[in-house]
Amino acid sequence: MGATITLPAQEVPVVDEVDVLVVGGGPAGFAAAVSAARQGANTILIERYGYLGGLANGALVIAMEDMDNGQQITVAGLVTEYAERVAQKGGLVRPAPEDLFQASDELYNKWYWFGFLEGWGRHRPAPVGYKAMIDVEVSKHVMFQMAKEAGVKLRLHSWCAGALTEGKTICGVVTLSKSGLQAIKAGIVLDTTGDGDIFASAGAEYVHGQYLITVAHFMAGVDTDRVREFSEQNPDEAEALNREVRNLYGGSWREWFWFSANPGILWCDCPHIKGYDGLDVEDLTYLEVEGRERIWQVLDFVQQNYPGFENAFVSRTSDQIGVRQTRLLLGEYTVTIEDVRNSVRFGDTVGRGKAYYYPYRCFVPRNVENLLVAGRHAAFEPAAQRVAREWPPCMVTGQAVGNAAALALDSGARVRDIDVPRLQRMLEKQGVIL
Ligand SMILES: Cc1cc2nc3c(=O)[nH]c(=O)nc-3n(C[C@H](O)[C@H](O)[C@H](O)COP(=O)(O)OP(=O)(O)OC[C@H]3O[C@@H](n4cnc5c(N)ncnc54)[C@H](O)[C@@H]3O)c2cc1C
Repeated sequence: MGATITLPAQEVPVVDEVDVLVVGGGPAGFAAAVSAARQGANTILIERYGYLGGLANGALVIAMEDMDNGQQITVAGLVTEYAERVAQKGGLVRPAPEDLFQASDELYNKWYWFGFLEGWGRHRPAPVGYKAMIDVEVSKHVMFQMAKEAGVKLRLHSWCAGALTEGKTICGVVTLSKSGLQAIKAGIVLDTTGDGDIFASAGAEYVHGQYLITVAHFMAGVDTDRVREFSEQNPDEAEALNREVRNLYGGSWREWFWFSANPGILWCDCPHIKGYDGLDVEDLTYLEVEGRERIWQVLDFVQQNYPGFENAFVSRTSDQIGVRQTRLLLGEYTVTIEDVRNSVRFGDTVGRGKAYYYPYRCFVPRNVENLLVAGRHAAFEPAAQRVAREWPPCMVTGQAVGNAAALALDSGARVRDIDVPRLQRMLEKQGVIL
């Protein structure tokens, strides 16, 4: 409309003061907070929803991807510890260690339906990848346990409304919750909101990217043995049905479902909707409604036409809309698509994903002090982020900045000036693969 109003100035209570303040409890923020607290920093983790795990748990992104390069495991550290704990509680499906990187017809049949083959098994024979599917409720429980054990102070149901700054230095944030506006002060702030809410508010430079947005969901009541038998015996007929499903979704990867960690429940990482902005509230509102419209059209179609789906029902839709890319930091170094394609390893590497590496500089804003950034909005070019944003590597980035913050506090250095070789040694001791 163009009109504006002016809000009256307001006294806001300062409710806490900490060493390290992490905003956003997704994979990156969870790992950052646990890592900083384990190093002895007084750490608070602020999250707008009532659980941790961000898109992994909230947008039903249950597949752990980008953890190997086809021949060896490339992603480890806190993420491995987390996965082991989820597995101990029966919340993880993954290939047996002896199956990893092997290719045979037997292994193809065993793991294809979980998406555990390299290249999703589109070409036979495909080696088995180091991947897993989580149960989101077990995952939420484990993340709370690990945060609690590390001594992280949790502040849930708190939307971070902006940064508190003194000149070019960030010194805390303001949150909005049922308790009203509150301020929390901090020595170092870690922005792990995925959308750069805090770095943008603090005045850091960034680009505004965009990619597919998805309302993911589960379909239960599916006779998975029948689906599998039908597809294997009638591949052309199954592909014709899959094509129709993809049309109804209006966008999907070739495989519109995978088997999940829960028997009879399929994970549907679709519909994919293009051309909308994950920072625009009107777009987000449209996508929530439109996404579900398409899901229910697909359900009607498969119930009536697809063998094995006769009694299917939508058992869950995502709590949190699946936004893949919005703001991306312009960091001290911004990783390019060529860096990712050529597997460029940097001198200040503090983590890696599939075959790509994270230089420490991609977490450091150019023009704001006391702030580090980790997760899917770190300094990657938009094209590079599209192929290098999976959540186990995002946990690695969180582990790196959590330790970096503790190191800065310990040494009295600015976060941009820390002793990176010392950070690398700390991370390697914690099992991170550099
Ligand atoms: C539909 C979809 C499918 C995907 N598929 C896969 C896949 O198969 N495998 C894979 O490994 N990865 C996949 N990804 C990518 C992966 O899920 C994300 O890149 C990853 O979760 C990013 O982690 P993050 O911690 O950086 O951010 P997020 O997961 O986005 O977490 C950010 C957290 O910050 C909180 N937050 C945000 N703003 C504020 C605020 N202002 N105040 C307070 N809290 C705030 C959010 O609630 C959230 O908890 C997919 C992503 C999407 C959307």
